[in-house]
Amino acid sequence: MNLESNKQIILSRISKACELTGRDPAAIRLVWVSKIQPVSAVEEAIALGAREFGENRVQEALEKFLPQREGVICRIIGPVQKNKLRKAVLAAQAIDSIADLESVLKLEALCEEANKNLEILFQVNASEEATKSGLSMQEAADFLHALPEPKRLVYKGLMTIGKNTGNPEDSRVCFAFLRNLRDKIFNSHSKFSNFTELSMGMTDDLEVAIAEGSTMLRVGTALFGKR
Ligand SMILES: *Cc1c(COP(=O)(O)O)cnc(C)c1O
Repeated sequence: MNLESNKQIILSRISKACELTGRDPAAIRLVWVSKIQPVSAVEEAIALGAREFGENRVQEALEKFLPQREGVICRIIGPVQKNKLRKAVLAAQAIDSIADLESVLKLEALCEEANKNLEILFQVNASEEATKSGLSMQEAADFLHALPEPKRLVYKGLMTIGKNTGNPEDSRVCFAFLRNLRDKIFNSHSKFSNFTELSMGMTDDLEVAIAEGSTMLRVGTALFGKR
């Protein structure tokens, strides 16, 4: 694996996709998905300028991202069991996979206790694949409207995983659904004044995600190599 050239390839894919769709690359954050990778790979990425990482297991996040490094953000991007939320709050600055009210309430209490703020993205299962977690497309809007006013939490937006068919075009409808939902929710209430983020697009479908308005790409394989 050559992390530096992989990074260059990803950055040029992003800028090309932005050029094609008239978007500003500065409006798209790259989350380096470091799951399974050793801490040495994280350090190498940081040396190359990476500042935001995605981990899908809390234990790995703890091992790699504590103690916290100045300016480095760890995002939990996989579903978190209720009994792991406390540790997730310890390790991460953001959780992008929230899809139930009980976790929201628990996180609010844990963040109050830890005197800490936490960014939250809500995961929507917009591909409607049974193996994936997230709010269903039908329930998502009602769920969001019913959320309590956040205190320590910041409701930042939505996350989804595209369709895993081998054809990135198949993810387009999922991404468009997420963008429309974000547009409807943003500023619909004071609790949604920060609701701008769309975490969508991975190694295989980031161009389609950019075309559909992604603000945050989650890339693992194309940066760190096959897991
Ligand atoms: C592993 C993972 C990714 C990264 O996928 P790649 O195809 O390796 O880029 C993105 N999002 C989530 C939720 C993941 O679990």
